[in-house]
Amino acid sequence: MELLTRPHNYNISFNIAALVLVFVTLLIHISQEVHYSRQRNVFGAIIADAFFINLMGLAHQCYLSNDYFKYIITAEGNKYIVIAEKISVYLLPYFSIIYVAAIFQMELDSLLKKAIVAIPTIYAVLAFASGVWSDYYFSFDAAGNLKFNYYQGATVNIGVILYFISAAYLLLKYGKSLTSEKFIAIWVYFFIMLLGIPVRILTRSGSIFEFSVSISLLLCVYTFQNPSEFVDRMSGAGTRNALNFYISTSLIQKKEFTALGVHVNKLAVILGVEPTEAASDLLNQISSYLKKLCPEGNLFYPGDADFILVFPDVTPDEAVIEKTVEQIRKRFKEPWKIRGDEIKLVQSPYAIGFPDEADSLDRYSEIRSVMSKAILRQNREILRVSDLSLKTVEQDKKINNIVKHALDNGHLEVYYQPIYSPETGRFSSCEALLRLKDPQLGFISPAVFMPVAERNGTILAMDKYVLSKVCEMISNTAVRDYGLEYVEINLSIVDCIQTNLAENVLRTLSKYDVKPSEINLEVTETSEEGINAVMEENVRKLMAAGVDFSMDDFGTGYSNIARVASMPVKIFKLDKSIIQSAFDSEVNYMVMYNMVKIIKSLGKEIVAEGVETGEQARQIIKLGCDHLQGFFYSRPLPRDQFLDFMKEHNS
Ligand code: C2E
Ligand code: CA
Ligand code: CA
Repeated sequence: MELLTRPHNYNISFNIAALVLVFVTLLIHISQEVHYSRQRNVFGAIIADAFFINLMGLAHQCYLSNDYFKYIITAEGNKYIVIAEKISVYLLPYFSIIYVAAIFQMELDSLLKKAIVAIPTIYAVLAFASGVWSDYYFSFDAAGNLKFNYYQGATVNIGVILYFISAAYLLLKYGKSLTSEKFIAIWVYFFIMLLGIPVRILTRSGSIFEFSVSISLLLCVYTFQNPSEFVDRMSGAGTRNALNFYISTSLIQKKEFTALGVHVNKLAVILGVEPTEAASDLLNQISSYLKKLCPEGNLFYPGDADFILVFPDVTPDEAVIEKTVEQIRKRFKEPWKIRGDEIKLVQSPYAIGFPDEADSLDRYSEIRSVMSKAILRQNREILRVSDLSLKTVEQDKKINNIVKHALDNGHLEVYYQPIYSPETGRFSSCEALLRLKDPQLGFISPAVFMPVAERNGTILAMDKYVLSKVCEMISNTAVRDYGLEYVEINLSIVDCIQTNLAENVLRTLSKYDVKPSEINLEVTETSEEGINAVMEENVRKLMAAGVDFSMDDFGTGYSNIARVASMPVKIFKLDKSIIQSAFDSEVNYMVMYNMVKIIKSLGKEIVAEGVETGEQARQIIKLGCDHLQGFFYSRPLPRDQFLDFMKEHNS
């Protein structure tokens, strides 16, 4: 204790504090389990180096201030300790400049670049190492203190100054792709390093310098190495920020590279309903596999069920992309593990070439959003930018905006399509269908805007809007008197996985005094067990309150009859593709015929969708379908026209 509290031993206290700080930093660094970043390895070298500097510095201070240590370390030992410390001090600016280069994804590819970076360090290391044999640069006094022989000693510092000049150059040139917080952090880091030179010379002591190096390393941990900003906690891959940063810094340097996207179908939805550990474990399995396939471990998981593998110096046409996709395809034929179970995942690859196909971050995200739609349609070949029409890219951007503001701008309207029930000969129900009318583009089809709304999240507000409009119509008009028994309302899968769906629906119903039996919610089937769990929970709650359900688009999706049969829905809606193709061929007719038989045998009601002709209607009624919906009876109508229709046809 006395060693630390004696005033002229304060250096030792500094040393110990610095050592503890670096040690903590080292622990933080090692404990992160990540699959991303070359800069991380360089940073590891910096911390290890700083740790070594501190350790040697402490040993030197102990030697100077304590007889006991003098006896153990010996004058000769002290000399080596000091030289080792100095050499690692001069390695620090070298690693720092490599670090900055790694941050900006710069490759030191030419010999000239390598030389420029390495020569000052080699020179400094040699100069200090020569201290073992000569006293040319420095010597030791009787007490064991280092004495520099200026000007020789000063020449070594020139190397350090060179590093600072190049670092300043890089930061000024590329710093604009950094956030301001990082920009400041990296400047502070270099400022402290630079300040180290006069401090060391004036105080003849490294302790304060070592302490500040430790602090600035910690600063880096929380900015540049900040795990939560650059590394996705769940998957261990780079985050969206890291990807954006990679793209923008590479574009500034006019580098060519390819982003190979692997879209894992429905992954976002699976993850949304799994417990965090299970989700994280699954993501980790996928990313550790993919990481092995990409050079330098450039793997990102920007979310939205997409993994991005980055291939520097490669265009999408090169064989390596094709080969990697082939490997991925093979792996995805095998199952993945989740909570002790196995699941199979379906992936679709797509490739974007920089800077030829995307020359800015904005452009990239526009292309991405169009691709994600196209991906749903195909999953065999690698989807390429050339497969998309660029008009779609512009259109998509526009529609995204229109959809986001449609509700606030009052551009949405609910239409109603009457549904006919042959048994009573009346239109006892209808389906509520959303319409978006843009002042410039006119009507935009739900097939176009619904997927956009699902992606940008506006779907939740839209469906709430539909529900309240429907309730308002039921309670404020004479539609009940016209014979309307219930309204079919579409739910998106995004609605179905909201845990508060049931509460929201029931609150709206009671607000308008609408009975739960007066609406029927349409859901579609999905292939994921996980989704079904939350969805079924919602269905259960709503059914307990008296709301019935319809299975929409039946016959298009996965249609595992056994499982679908066990779903607690009252109505099956036979998809219009089944109905319409039934009249094309004998086989297709048999498909429809048997579907109707199966559904009937389960004791469920059937709505036949897309009935367009009188002949179709006649046949379908003969088969025993309970309800018919389609243009033959009526197109979807605006509210007032629908009311007129009901009044006219049901009385
Ligand atoms: P859906 O649920 O299958 O709705 C039936 C679609 O078939 C409607 O298309 C309707 O206009 C169309 N249709 C009706 N009769 C016929 C016919 O005889 N022939 C043909 N060819 N088509 C017919 P729409 O209105 O364009 O809606 C498309 C899809 O958008 C809907 O398919 C539904 O999945 C979604 N959607 C529409 N409104 C909403 C909504 O309010 N919320 C949600 N979540 N989805 C909606
Ligand atoms: Ca529907
Ligand atoms: Ca449908």
